[in-house]
Amino acid sequence: MSAFCAVLVAAGQGTRFGKAKQFAALAGKPVLRWSAEALLSAGADPLVVVVASGQKDACHAALHGLEGYRVVAGGQSRHDSVRNGLAALGPDAADAVLIHDAARPFLDAQVIEAVLAALETAPAALPALPLTDTIKRAADGRVIETVPRDHLWRAQTPQGFHRLALMTALAAWRGDDPSDEVRVMEDAGHPVALVPGSARLLKLTHQEDMAMAEALVPRITLTGQGLDAHRWGPGDGVWLCGVEIAHDQSLIGHSDADAGLHALTDAILGALGDGDIGDHFPPSEPRWKGAASDQFLLHALELLRARGGVLVNVDVTLVCEQPRIKPHRAAMRQRLSDLLGLDLARVSVKATTMEGMGFTGRGEGLFAQAIATITLPA
Ligand code: MG
Repeated sequence: MSAFCAVLVAAGQGTRFGKAKQFAALAGKPVLRWSAEALLSAGADPLVVVVASGQKDACHAALHGLEGYRVVAGGQSRHDSVRNGLAALGPDAADAVLIHDAARPFLDAQVIEAVLAALETAPAALPALPLTDTIKRAADGRVIETVPRDHLWRAQTPQGFHRLALMTALAAWRGDDPSDEVRVMEDAGHPVALVPGSARLLKLTHQEDMAMAEALVPRITLTGQGLDAHRWGPGDGVWLCGVEIAHDQSLIGHSDADAGLHALTDAILGALGDGDIGDHFPPSEPRWKGAASDQFLLHALELLRARGGVLVNVDVTLVCEQPRIKPHRAAMRQRLSDLLGLDLARVSVKATTMEGMGFTGRGEGLFAQAIATITLPA
């Protein structure tokens, strides 16, 4: 791909969205980061991200770990923001520039390539899709006429330009705030090439659009398992799956020894490929002494959510001769469902004995096994 630089416009206030949508999490990742990653991995050098003044720190946080970008403050209008972005590219930047709207997170290399290829023969290029719906003009809730849709296109971004031609055209622009930069080039009399846009390049405008965007994120399904055992000792009760059961013994452990929650925590960590409970909560640390194990589970859940993960279902099996689990199963399922924020139908708690065999059969300890299924952005 030929050398190019890029301006990512993320300075909108999100008036129709209700908040600054560019920082909203889409599959665990800030909306603007999706486009920044796509542009950088396609080779944008440099990438200038334009944000509202006061949002520079938030922008750096959202792009943490990425390299090759600069952040500048936008102006009062989109027009001013784009001009600030272009100025920040510096005089030595490549002449091919892409201007992309951060509200379109699903930018792929194909569209970038098509726009850049068109710039080899035209001073401006626009990814666009033909209209497929029948178009009506209406007023006061009544149709006035059917508008022929021939020659009508939906303009998307990234829009590509010969940088110096665009800067000259923007400097000469005297109209209202243009909704895109191609408009300014049209006005200056430059030819603008059309290239195929992408249906996935949808623009997040309203809060409802986030649900559609989430559904478009490709996901993979992963499964993890967890095992745990604790030894019986003196006491008058036991915690299992977050529920306290009266019993003539207790399970011995550094924390509350809830083997059910420990196995389940390990199952989620296992699905994430993120170590085990001992890595995250070392038994050598005094602060976990007697700790309620629901915090271990909630921590694993937090790690899952930070990666845009979704918990699909969990299945826990407790193995012991005593106490009888069945009378407490409904309470355990409900507790897990509450802790995990997971529909009750996706939470299973089962129990079995080992018919007197092995360490659980001899009453030396209790064994727990869990499986968790998750989805992660692919
Ligand atoms: Mg344990």
